[in-house]
Amino acid sequence: MAMWDSYAFGNYRLFCRELRDILDYAGADKVLFGTDNPIFNTVMPTKEYIQLIKDLPANSPEGIEFTKEEVDGILGGNAAKVEVLKYSQIIAKEGYVIGSGGNVSVLIEGEEALAITPSSIDYFNLTENDICIVGFDSKPVEGEHRPSIETGFHIAVYKNRLDVNAIIHTHQTFASVFTVLNRPIPALFDEQVLHLGNIIDVIPYGVSGSPDLVQNVVSKLDNDCNCYLLQNHGALCLGLDLAQALRNVKLLEKTAKVYYYALNLEKELTTIPKPYEDVFFGLLKNEQQKEIERKKDIKTK
Ligand SMILES: [Zn+2]
Repeated sequence: MAMWDSYAFGNYRLFCRELRDILDYAGADKVLFGTDNPIFNTVMPTKEYIQLIKDLPANSPEGIEFTKEEVDGILGGNAAKVEVLKYSQIIAKEGYVIGSGGNVSVLIEGEEALAITPSSIDYFNLTENDICIVGFDSKPVEGEHRPSIETGFHIAVYKNRLDVNAIIHTHQTFASVFTVLNRPIPALFDEQVLHLGNIIDVIPYGVSGSPDLVQNVVSKLDNDCNCYLLQNHGALCLGLDLAQALRNVKLLEKTAKVYYYALNLEKELTTIPKPYEDVFFGLLKNEQQKEIERKKDIKTK
C-alpha cells in the first residue's frame, strides 16, 4: 500500500475503486500497509497518507464504501499478523530456528503495541489468528495463545530504539558460534557496517524471559547497531521492517561464517579502514534518524 501513495492523492476516485476491488477479492487482512521493496527502495507511509486511509469511511466517493473495521485491518493488527506469520515461517524454513525456537515481531504503526509469535508452537502449524497482539504494558490485546517468552525484550527494543519497527530473534548457527565464544564481530565488510552497524556486540547472558535478559539487551541498544549476539543463546536482528530484519539475519550469518573460517586459518585478519567504517555507519544512522523523524511527525499530527 505504501507505493500507492501518489496514486491515492493523484486520482482518489480510481484509487478508492481499485482498493475496494482488492478488499473484496482478498480481504482487509491481506492488504499490507507497510513498505514497497525496502531492500532497494524504502517507501514508508507518510502521515498524510495514513490520514487519508483513516478517513476512507467518511470520505469515500459515491457508490464506494469502506468500513472502520476494514481500515483497522489495513493499518493495524491484521496486516501485522500476516507479516509476522510470513517471516516466522521463512526463518524456520531457511534453518535460522528449529521448532518453535526464536521469535518474530512487528510494531503496529501508530500504536504502542506489537504483533508477535506465540510461545511453543511450531511455526509451520501457525495461522494468522495464532499471532498475538501485545501492548507495551505487556498485556495481551488479541490472540488465544501465550505470547513469546521473549516479548519483554521486544517491547524494550521498541521503547528504546525509535528507529526500529521489526525484530527477528534466531538461533542461527554461525552467529551462535560467537555467542559461545562471547566474542563480538568487528567491522569486516562495507555491507555489514551499512546494514548491521560498526560492531556486532555480545549481550551478556540472561535466562530466556528473565528481567535480567531484558536489562542486558537494553544496556547495549544505544550503540545504534541492528544486530546483536545473545551470549550462549542466539541472535537479535532489528530493522525498519521485517524485510530489513530478515536481510540482517542473512547478512549476520554470512558475516559470522566468514569470520569463523578466517579465524580458523590463524592468519592476520583485517577490518575495513576506520574512515570508511565511519562513512557507512553514518549512512545507517541517517536512515534511522529519518525514521525517528517520520514517526515523531505522525505522533504530533
Ligand atoms: Zn531464543
